[in-house]
Amino acid sequence: MVADKASDSPNEQKEDKLDVLKSTQTVVQTALDKLGYPEEVFDLLKEPVRMMTVRIPVRMDDDSIKIFTGYRAQHNDAVGPTKGGVRFHPNVTEKEVKALSIWMSLKAGIVDLPYGGGKGGIVCDPREMSFRELEGLSRGYVRAISQIVGPTKDIPAPDVFTNPQIMAWMMDEYSRIDEFNNPGFITGKPIVLGGSHGRESATAKGVTICIDEAVKKKGISVKDSKVVIQGFGNAGSFLAKFLNDQGAKIVGISDAYGGLHDPDGLDIDYLLDRRDSFGTVTKLFEDTISNEELLELDCDILVPAAVENQITEENADKINASIIVEAANGPTTLEATRILSERGILLVPDVLASAGGVTVSYFEWVQNNQGYYWTEEEIEEKLYKVMVKGFNNVYNTAETRKIDMRLAAYMVGVRKMAEAARFRGWI
Ligand code: GLU
Repeated sequence: MVADKASDSPNEQKEDKLDVLKSTQTVVQTALDKLGYPEEVFDLLKEPVRMMTVRIPVRMDDDSIKIFTGYRAQHNDAVGPTKGGVRFHPNVTEKEVKALSIWMSLKAGIVDLPYGGGKGGIVCDPREMSFRELEGLSRGYVRAISQIVGPTKDIPAPDVFTNPQIMAWMMDEYSRIDEFNNPGFITGKPIVLGGSHGRESATAKGVTICIDEAVKKKGISVKDSKVVIQGFGNAGSFLAKFLNDQGAKIVGISDAYGGLHDPDGLDIDYLLDRRDSFGTVTKLFEDTISNEELLELDCDILVPAAVENQITEENADKINASIIVEAANGPTTLEATRILSERGILLVPDVLASAGGVTVSYFEWVQNNQGYYWTEEEIEEKLYKVMVKGFNNVYNTAETRKIDMRLAAYMVGVRKMAEAARFRGWI
């Protein structure tokens, strides 16, 4: 069994259900069981093979020194170097970073990239830090983890509240330590530093490709469908633009502070114009709704594109969408996944839907390694092929085995890693 003995305290039980590491382990174990792997495979894959905790001193603008805590988790490097973003957020925890690293392994498996999963996080609030302080923190983090990362070991990238500028500082710091210019150390860089065309919008592009495939299964079309997007950060904002351009009606969007609703469709171009770099826009409006209300709006397609544990057993019954596509990592709990599946709602899980980001990161790394760069059209074409193949693989597994798409995605995602570990003689 994965879960420790359930606690008697209702609060702890609630905590347990929201424990993203535990719920990830539960699905990984079920997937491995269904594939017929012995217990020791789960024992290896239930935790990262390496987890580093670092303390990073940063000189703040008022000349004081503040110490930040950061993590880097490397889930499994049987397939190849580990790969995954770095999150700057006040709620980052060790368990969350571990779960995120497992999800990265699954994503790489689903879209068949030559990577294992990794993830990093720093407990900080970048919304309250200056540019200079953020630079100090980014460079300090790279110095602290430099021994375990590198272009053939573990390749970081952007995640929540990190961006191309932060990738540029990190790449520069690593290049100084390594004593040569090393663009392949990190992805999501600005184009002039070896970044790839299409990387900034890649997660959203991948989500739109999954939406296009999912609507076909439900016999509806994106044009004229009603869409609700929770979160207006990198994924949410690009997605709103792409779907709006395709003729969908975006009836609700939200940020960390609340949501906006218009049954006739929101003016997305205006909202994109007014959002700040952290995806905040609702503060400009008086007539807002809560994030809870937003998730229950009547729509065809609901896209959680913010943080974990948004759709739970408390609100899964009240969701009014026929398709949910998870652009965020971990937005739906396991109990909620079960309820939604019983209700016949098609749920495209995070490890598939959000894999567009790491796919174009892989293209960026390949371009850096070969020193030859592709056009935006080439990237789009390659991304499209990879995502459609991943979607169909997962969808067909779910249909054949009569299981939900989350379990199917885990089965597809975990297989390559388990096989690679077996060939290496680890298990
Ligand atoms: N942070 C993104 C994710 O969760 C992208 C990771 C990457 O590009 O390596 O998938």
